[in-house]
Amino acid sequence: MSTVLPWHEDAWHQIQSQIRGGRLPHAILLQGLPGSGRRQFADALCAHLLCESEADKPCGRCRQCMLYNSGNHPDVLVLEPEEKSKSIKIDQIRRLSLFVAQTSNQSNVTKLIVIRPAEALGPAAANSLLKSLEEPPGRTLFMLIAEPGTALLPTIRSRCQPVALAGAGTEQAMAWLQLHSSAAVDDLAAALQLAPGSPVAALALLEEGLPAWRAGIEERLSELASGRLSPVELAKLASTQPALRAIHLIEEISARDSRAFIQSHHMQDLRRELLFQHKLLPVKQQLNSTANPNELMALEYLLIEYAGLLKARTGT
Ligand SMILES: [Zn+2]
Repeated sequence: MSTVLPWHEDAWHQIQSQIRGGRLPHAILLQGLPGSGRRQFADALCAHLLCESEADKPCGRCRQCMLYNSGNHPDVLVLEPEEKSKSIKIDQIRRLSLFVAQTSNQSNVTKLIVIRPAEALGPAAANSLLKSLEEPPGRTLFMLIAEPGTALLPTIRSRCQPVALAGAGTEQAMAWLQLHSSAAVDDLAAALQLAPGSPVAALALLEEGLPAWRAGIEERLSELASGRLSPVELAKLASTQPALRAIHLIEEISARDSRAFIQSHHMQDLRRELLFQHKLLPVKQQLNSTANPNELMALEYLLIEYAGLLKARTGT
């Protein structure tokens, strides 16, 4: 997919004006949230720079476009962590150095290097990359993809022109999701809530079966009150998705119920609901901050608390 996403148009125009003015630097840092379409942006830029057509780039028909679309363009190198690894290894940077040093197979073509994400560069790999980044021979464009405000080596950052990739607005994101998914609007909104500003990530959640999982868990939460299902059983059922997703769902339901209790003046129930919501925060913090949290245990704990809350309810 090499079209520019609507919420990236400003960044695209900025780059296009640099290309037209011959002012494109040899390294850019694409800063945006994961799942907001950062890869698509780099992809669209590669396709645009490679295409030989005079207008309507990428034409999709010229030799360069055909090569690029085949995924085997000799002047494009994508570096990302190899399977089961979280970091880009120094060996991969050595390959990159060789790639940069080679003369281009194609005449008049810029060598394109995509590094995603730049956060995956360990200190040794980052230092090794500096040499290539400093003075690349010939025409080269490095595209480093990173989250905004991420900690990168200052020497790397200072060699890249920052390009801010905006997240999608809610309306833009919904419109885009509706074009790409046949899921119900409620499901789209729920997925987007888990990936704010990042409809590409939201779409991935939808494709992972998130709406069905949510509906299933929500339905079975009511069985906790009657005791037909135990908190431990429900925690096990919910654990096909990360615990934080289950907690977000319970949080949403609790907030919705709280609003209903306010309207119906069930103040005792509201108070219990708010007390429960206070217990969610430290669990979420723990899940976010610990390297290997015991997700199942955290979820069991919250569901035991939630079951107690449901059983104590007076109003509905
Ligand atoms: Zn073309």
